[in-house]
Amino acid sequence: RIVYLNGAFLPFEEAKVPVMDRGFLFADGIYEVSAVLDGKLVDNAAHLARLDRSLGEIGIRNPHSLAEWERLETELVARNGLGEGLVYMQVTRGVHERDFGFPPADTAPTVVMFTQAKSVAANPLAERGARVITVEDIRWKRRDIKSVALLAQVLAKQAAVAAGVSEAWMVEDGAVTEGSSSTAFIVTRDRRLVTRPLSTALLPGITRAAVLRLAEEAELTVEERLFSVEEARAAQEAFYTSASSFVMPVVEIDGASIDDGRPGPLTRRLRELYIGMARAG
Ligand code: PMP
Repeated sequence: RIVYLNGAFLPFEEAKVPVMDRGFLFADGIYEVSAVLDGKLVDNAAHLARLDRSLGEIGIRNPHSLAEWERLETELVARNGLGEGLVYMQVTRGVHERDFGFPPADTAPTVVMFTQAKSVAANPLAERGARVITVEDIRWKRRDIKSVALLAQVLAKQAAVAAGVSEAWMVEDGAVTEGSSSTAFIVTRDRRLVTRPLSTALLPGITRAAVLRLAEEAELTVEERLFSVEEARAAQEAFYTSASSFVMPVVEIDGASIDDGRPGPLTRRLRELYIGMARAG
């Protein structure tokens, strides 16, 4: 496996980051994940725009232009012979003697990229449907920034793992904010597609935006509003979206089946439309 680190393509074992890296010490960094399908990056411009925005929000200068990022990602995908999977990108505030305040302005950010081979389109979980649990959302107040400080999501996902399910939906003031690594959606009994509106309370999902565009094309009514766990449990269908799971049907929430406990037709259709769009490039 070949990894990109600060300008070099290196064998995995040789790619090392110093102990004083601020990503390691403070989780002072930003990341992105783009899917790869048929050897091509999916919706990558939108992921790179979000990376640029996240970096700007925490005052890290973006070390590359969008065109440079895309060239580096494409080269990494090619060097790894990746047909299907993920590209992970991370930028930290760089290496400097430990101190909370920012290092000198000329400190070079640390840039890491690696690929993960994964079957994203043909996923058996999407056939069965995923089960989710709900957990309290204990995160900070700037969840719109794709920060590598992911401890709350680590604990949420581990609670899901311990419960033998696939994802944890995080809940704040009675409303679902989002999944530990995904955006949460429900379909109401009168066929409205409901997802939380964008704000600092959740990550602006790139797959979310694509699915909302597809839903409007398919003439489904989209409602961006808060929804409760109770409403989700009583919904006609439910699903979550992310770069790595695309559109994932949810068939159970906290042990209670959604409708007949099988992936819903509207969810399956949105998944097909999304994969079609991704393959078309
Ligand atoms: N919310 C959170 C908290 C996430 O970690 C992710 C995955 N990065 C998402 C939503 C989904 O975002 P995207 O569709 O851009 O992968």
